[in-house]
Amino acid sequence: MGLDWDDIRRRGEDGIGISQDEALAIVALTDPADVDALLTTADAVRLHHKGRYVNTCGISNAKSGRCPEKCNFCSQSAHFSTAAPAYTVKDADTIVDEARAAFDQGVREFSIVMAGKRIDKEPELAVLEQAFQRIRAETGMQTCASLGLMRKEELQRLKDAGMQSFHHNLETARSYHDQIVESHSYDDEVDAIRNAKELGMYVCSGGIFGMGESWAQRVELALDLRALDVDSIPVNFLNPRPGTPLADKHELQPVDCLKIIALIRLVLPTKDVIVCGGREMNLMDEQQNMFKAGANGVMLGNYLTTAGQAVARDHALMESLGMVIRPPPHQPLPPSVPPAVRSEGTDPARLAELGLVDAPAK
Ligand code: SF4
Repeated sequence: MGLDWDDIRRRGEDGIGISQDEALAIVALTDPADVDALLTTADAVRLHHKGRYVNTCGISNAKSGRCPEKCNFCSQSAHFSTAAPAYTVKDADTIVDEARAAFDQGVREFSIVMAGKRIDKEPELAVLEQAFQRIRAETGMQTCASLGLMRKEELQRLKDAGMQSFHHNLETARSYHDQIVESHSYDDEVDAIRNAKELGMYVCSGGIFGMGESWAQRVELALDLRALDVDSIPVNFLNPRPGTPLADKHELQPVDCLKIIALIRLVLPTKDVIVCGGREMNLMDEQQNMFKAGANGVMLGNYLTTAGQAVARDHALMESLGMVIRPPPHQPLPPSVPPAVRSEGTDPARLAELGLVDAPAK
């Protein structure tokens, strides 16, 4: 089908995502001029909804390895022999120290990640409660966690303690999920997302690309994320881990990664699109174009079991593009963040004008 870029941009600016047919036509583009038109359109839609602001997130791998689940990309599964670290839950002091260090590097949303089917044991929930209360009080960062197939009861408890966002990936398209995750179903993933949505949480859900799925399945995943009305989409690219069944898979070219980011932006034009794990090895030098492709966020620092690139490099990229880190309300940026990456300040009226916080009460 022919693609009307002006019309797609206008609809995107109005918050209307592309149709399935348009999405399938977009991912079939290979001519560099067509791909350029795609990225230009995604960039305009991003700029319209997100301006120059970059969401920055960071993680604590707070409980690692020995996971009874079988996800074929994951080095923390007990089913595979890998070099991933294995340890029980960290204490709250350690997690809060990690959050403070992340804040000093420019991270504004901090996620606590624990391996396992779900977190429902008292000692682990108690650590999470303490950590959320203290991170909110001591850093002002947005708080998030990735804790598996969570039920509402435990989610509500953690929300009451200060957990604002819940992360849970669908991982891949429904039609490919059983090739990737052998221990639980796609509907189990959907249930966890719905539980958090029904509690009014900000939900971060995306997937990992480059695991053998087709372009049509990438479109399928994007449309499902839209149907679930998730708030933020983490875009991960497979960084194949030795010892896992996907150890030898390396399918994505940098331009494929840019097309995937642009696809997500145009399917979900108003949402947050965050580039996360695997970006260094898959995007390579094209990382400089990830925001132009439609992303408005990036994970800084290390990932769960792999190292990220130096944070200074990401700050330099944001600075060179004139982009600024989106601050949490009323929270000054630390001195370590370069001047050009700073926001216009933390005056509540100015932040409200920028749409970053609610307008102050008169
Ligand atoms: S992705 Fe999560 S649930 Fe799956 S094996 Fe890894 S730690 Fe376990």
